[in-house]
Amino acid sequence: MSKLEICALASGSNGNCYYIGNDDESLLVDAGLSARQLQLRFQAKRIDEKKISAILITHEHADHARGARVLSKRLKIPVYITKKTYLALSKANRPVDPIWFEADESFIIGKFEVHAFAKQHDAVDACSFRVGYAGRNVGVMTDIGTACERVKEHFSQCDAVFLESNYDDDMLRNGPYPYYLKERVASDRGHLSNVQAFELATGFAGEQLHTIFLSHLSGENNTPELADSVFNSLRARFRVELTSREKPTDLVLV
Ligand SMILES: [Zn+2]
Ligand SMILES: [Zn+2]
Repeated sequence: MSKLEICALASGSNGNCYYIGNDDESLLVDAGLSARQLQLRFQAKRIDEKKISAILITHEHADHARGARVLSKRLKIPVYITKKTYLALSKANRPVDPIWFEADESFIIGKFEVHAFAKQHDAVDACSFRVGYAGRNVGVMTDIGTACERVKEHFSQCDAVFLESNYDDDMLRNGPYPYYLKERVASDRGHLSNVQAFELATGFAGEQLHTIFLSHLSGENNTPELADSVFNSLRARFRVELTSREKPTDLVLV
């Protein structure tokens, strides 16, 4: 069977980049670290830059888009982005070689089938992606305020998924954020809590799902231990991996 491997090169509220690669080509979902930082992480994971054929952008927040322009220029690859998201970026951060898509569109990049779908988040045109290759599917589902029908539908088709597990309810409630920010994070256009992520996983996983990367953990309102403990009971059923803002995860075969 042809190889499909994935990792989170960075994940968290200060930078996100998810890698999906087959034998010949690979995609990045988001580029929310500097190009230099991302290139160091490619080296650390022995990821061949020449294989990377495109960057997909989920939304305009800096933790997802800040490195896209420079990295795409260096690697001479296009950036797939919706027009609204592009216009929401500052001019200095807009990619030079954008390819437009719509937030509910499927399209082909090389041998990958990319399914974009709109998500609820406080950005102008936020979307998630499910990427298919050789009958397998990888989801990147972070920055979602609520698991809407589209999220559930695409989640159920995944073999492996980067799933947001952003905050612990008690830590958020008792934590340092001002009230309006707490409201924002917990709202339907904010982020998914550990418990919401767990409920999505238990309620909507397909038979084929084998790996969940707990992703986009908040630095203030969550700890890796808390997120991990919520998912502990699912370890008999799935491989559950933590992602980190500090370093890439291992590459996992899908
Ligand atoms: Zn984010
Ligand atoms: Zn965001």
